[in-house]
Amino acid sequence: MYKLELQNIQKKFYNKNVLDGLNLQVKKGERISILGPSGCGKSTTLSIIAGLIDDFDGKVILDGEDITSKAANKRNIVIVNQENLLFPHMNVYENIAFGLRVRKKSKDEIDKKVKELLSDIGLEGYEKKKVSMISGGEKQRVALARALAVEPEVLLLDEAYSSLDTNLRERMRELTIGLQKKHNTTMILVTHDKEEAILFSDRIAIMLNGKLEQIDYPEEVYTNPKTKAAAKFMVDDN
Ligand code: ADP
Ligand code: MG
Repeated sequence: MYKLELQNIQKKFYNKNVLDGLNLQVKKGERISILGPSGCGKSTTLSIIAGLIDDFDGKVILDGEDITSKAANKRNIVIVNQENLLFPHMNVYENIAFGLRVRKKSKDEIDKKVKELLSDIGLEGYEKKKVSMISGGEKQRVALARALAVEPEVLLLDEAYSSLDTNLRERMRELTIGLQKKHNTTMILVTHDKEEAILFSDRIAIMLNGKLEQIDYPEEVYTNPKTKAAAKFMVDDN
């Protein structure tokens, strides 16, 4: 059984087909990238997986269960993007604990989880620090810890690290993959950056104009694109 399946997803915005019959199957613990140019429908796809858009055709299946009409707050699917970084008025502990509080976990359980995650991201002892007092890179790490705290069924990264400089991006990628492996998290990364997709993923889905052109291992996508459009995209400088 697959962890997550998208079946024939179609989405229009004002009569324009944004997603045009999308099919995707993701295994438990797999890291998949959806790679494609700006505007091809990547973020829309993630919103549908997370339950943030309900007006579309097709099905979303999680662990074999049809969750197409399940509310976002009942799904335990988390999106990390550039905008939803951290709650500025809360300290590091409260940020990481937020989703656990919402899920009514006990204080002991929350304390233990936050401590473990802070150690995972190399920020032991940061509990009481104000978010405004930590660096950009530390904020990124806390945001990742906050997302992982709720042990999401699927973690969605929407160009989360695109704005970072090369060094930091590389460190976040290594940290993310390390934690993903430790927790066996199923992960979908959305990016327009080919190198990022290749370095990050078990498999890559090339998305062009609301369709998945090819879903394959990174080296296959790179050396053996299956359609003209996929080949053009892989050599174009975009
Ligand atoms: P990507 O993340 O790949 O850059 P998006 O999924 O954000 O692409 O957008 C795909 C297309 O859908 C774009 O043409 C975009 O303008 C359009 N679109 C996205 N969200 C909306 C919206 N809320 N209303 C109207 N059009 C939208
Ligand atoms: Mg986007």
